[in-house]
Amino acid sequence: SSGDQAKEKITVGTDSSFVPFEFLNEETNEYDGFDIDLVKALSKEVGFEYELKTMDFNGLIPALQTNKLDMAIAGMTIKEERKKVVDFSQPYYDAGLLILVQKDEKEIKGLEDLKGKKIATKQGTTSYDFATNIDGVKEVVPFPNIDQAYLELEKGAADAVIFDSPNVLYYSQNKGKGKVKTVGKLLQGQQYGIAFPKGSELRDKVDKAMTKLKEDGTYDKLYKKWFGEAP
Ligand code: GLN
Repeated sequence: SSGDQAKEKITVGTDSSFVPFEFLNEETNEYDGFDIDLVKALSKEVGFEYELKTMDFNGLIPALQTNKLDMAIAGMTIKEERKKVVDFSQPYYDAGLLILVQKDEKEIKGLEDLKGKKIATKQGTTSYDFATNIDGVKEVVPFPNIDQAYLELEKGAADAVIFDSPNVLYYSQNKGKGKVKTVGKLLQGQQYGIAFPKGSELRDKVDKAMTKLKEDGTYDKLYKKWFGEAP
């Protein structure tokens, strides 16, 4: 009706578990994290309402392709292969991959020591692609959720986990503290972007809003809140 400023309501997809970008906060029973705060700030800037839909990471791109989602924010790495099927915003986070091993591991000191080893990681991610391309690796076991890969490592059922650096670091400093350690250098530098269905008009609006949040200090404030330092 006239005078009503009806806002567009969109559906935003996210990963069910990718700490500290998105995770279920057990105290509030709501989703929390850097991506969750970022999408809230973007929605205010652009002026949309949204419903958050959580799913396994590898369900996000198919859901965008079939327009079940209007956008997906899930620490998703901008990759040429993905750019063929979805559109990305400007990059909003720089990351890489890290190797995680048991605390008392002595043999594996870096990438070159993974020959003959069993690696656990997460399905449909850049880490899975990376791990399956390491020369001489014995086996790469993909899990829908990275927490299952970490458990596999702790049980000794896998020799190493390879996954996104911010998640690996968070895990090794929190739940995995005293049980695991990272080894070697940061591997395969990559950048995260927000993904949209091909040709989405929302992409440009969100991209402009992202530029604004980077300029007005909102982005830095959120980055500091979740990563403890300025970007
Ligand atoms: N950045 C990784 C990828 O895009 C993993 C993201 C995630 O697990 N949410 O493949």
